[in-house]
Order: sequence, then C-alpha cells, then structure tokens
Amino acid sequence: MDNDFNRQTIVDTSCSPPTPVYRGRFAPSPTGPLHFGSLVAAVGSYLEAKSCNGKWLVRIENLDRSREAPDASKEILSALEALGMEWDDEVLYQSRRNNAYRSALALLEKRNLIYRCNCSRKEIADSSIIGIDGPVYSGVCRGGSPNGEYPGAWRVRTDDHLIEFKDALRGMIRQRLESDIGDFILRRADGVFAYQLAVVVDDAEQAITHVVRGEDLLNSTPRQIYLQQLLGYPTPAYLHLPVAVNAQGEKLSKQTHAAPIDTSDPVSQLMLAIRFLGQAPPKELTGSNVTSFWKWATKNWKAEMIR
Ligand code: GLU
Repeated sequence: MDNDFNRQTIVDTSCSPPTPVYRGRFAPSPTGPLHFGSLVAAVGSYLEAKSCNGKWLVRIENLDRSREAPDASKEILSALEALGMEWDDEVLYQSRRNNAYRSALALLEKRNLIYRCNCSRKEIADSSIIGIDGPVYSGVCRGGSPNGEYPGAWRVRTDDHLIEFKDALRGMIRQRLESDIGDFILRRADGVFAYQLAVVVDDAEQAITHVVRGEDLLNSTPRQIYLQQLLGYPTPAYLHLPVAVNAQGEKLSKQTHAAPIDTSDPVSQLMLAIRFLGQAPPKELTGSNVTSFWKWATKNWKAEMIR
C-alpha cells in the first residue's frame, strides 16, 4: 500500500466537489459509554457536516450483541445530547438490519462472489503470510470447503485490481485486495454479519456522501470500496482523523479502559476534542455554553489544521 502523506496539497475543506446534500455520520459501537476517542470522531464528523450545511446522522453499530454493554447506546445518545450535538433522521441500529445484510449477501452469492470457509484461526495463521491488516487468507476454501459438514463463515472473493481513493487528509491510498488483505469475511460462522459488509450496506441506506472517522479504519476503506463496487453502491468521500491514544500508545477504547466523557461540563470536553483536532479556540470559549461553542466551532472549523 502506498500512503501519500503530502497533506498540504490535498486537504480540501471547501465542501467540494459540490454535493447536492452533504450527509455525514457518526457510527459508534456501543461497547461502553462515549469516551474521548469516540468524542473526537463524533466532533470531527459533526463539524465537517455542519460547516458544509450538511446533515449528520447517527448509526449504532451493535452487530455483535455479545459485545454490547447494556445501556451503552442510550448513554452514548444522551451524551451527544448533553454535548449539544443534534442528529438528523432516525438513529439506525444495526441489530435491526439483518434482512438488509442477508439480501446483500444473497446478491453476492447469486453472482458466485462469495464462498463458505471452515478454516480455523490457527489453520489460517499457519498457512498465511502477514499482510497490511493481519494474515492474508490463502483462499483454500475457494473451490469448496474441505470440512464441508460445518456451515462456516462466508468470504468474498477478492482480486488484484488496484483499488485507490484519495483521503481528504491522508492522500492517495492504494491496495490490491487479494495480495494485501485476502478474501475477507462477510458473515462469521456464528451467523453475525461482519462490520465490512454492514457498514457498506448502511452507508448506502443512509445515503452517506462523506465518511469522517478514525484513522484505524483507513486500511478497511478499500475493502468497503470493493463491496460498494460489487453491490452497485456509490462511493462516499473519506476523511480519516487521528486516533486518540493513552500513555501506553494504545487506542482509547473499552478494552483499554478509556474513561467515559464527563458531560457535566460539556464545553471543556468539546474544547479538548477540537484542540486534539488541531483547532485553536479562544480561551474565553471555555466559560461559554454549548450553543456558543458550536457557533464558533462551525464557523472556524479548518480540517487542514488537523495534525
Ligand atoms: N463502529 C466503528 C467504531 O466505533 C466505526 C465504524 C465506521 O465509522 O465506519 O470504531
């Protein structure tokens, strides 16, 4: 994969190419309450949308119910409300979208683009080279799975045509999926649909024109563009934000015990988030309310200041 980090020449904050309606989104996984890492993604996507007079939608990514924390969705939504972040349209819950994912998978099956795979993690690890996002699956089940009595996972066939896109901050990103990633899973053996499939089906359902999210998903984007191509969906514009890490350099998450956002003082949390995103709010804003904060932030948002 080639990453072109020459940001100065490529950052485009002018909402162009002009889209009839900018539709952005924030898509948290409800594994716990909103923490600083997810706040950064929420604020970055919100400001990109609002500074383009766009819509901002929320999608709760609760595909895997076993990882969902009770009440986390409610807590995330009330934190957004306390922070003065209003969303458009109804919140979309992935847990209610299995029929849509099933139809997309059926379409791919009809075109012989997916196949069953029974390989264990160990078999894959032992027989794979390591690519840019873990082991590159060798495709042993492409011609029929050797342990055919178990239903197994569904994988999509990849090929080596070049997939490239220009991230608004990170520049040109290029991958050849078959050699960089391998055939990837769309539905796990336990029946849970994979993030890569669900995100593509739902971005299309919500007519998302601009995806703004954490850089940890930069390497997933070519897989999503490939699925958009197979399913005949449009490809949105992408902007990947820096990811907040703790003192050990780990991404803030439930697993790394990130602290929940303290919504009793929303403006200071929002100030921290926009400072993290390279913006320079005046100190006086700290003592203001969320309405004044968003007024200033929307007017002065400059994506090219993100480091
Ligand atoms: N649900 C993912 C997360 O919380 C974000 C997925 C996306 O924005 O595409 O990290």
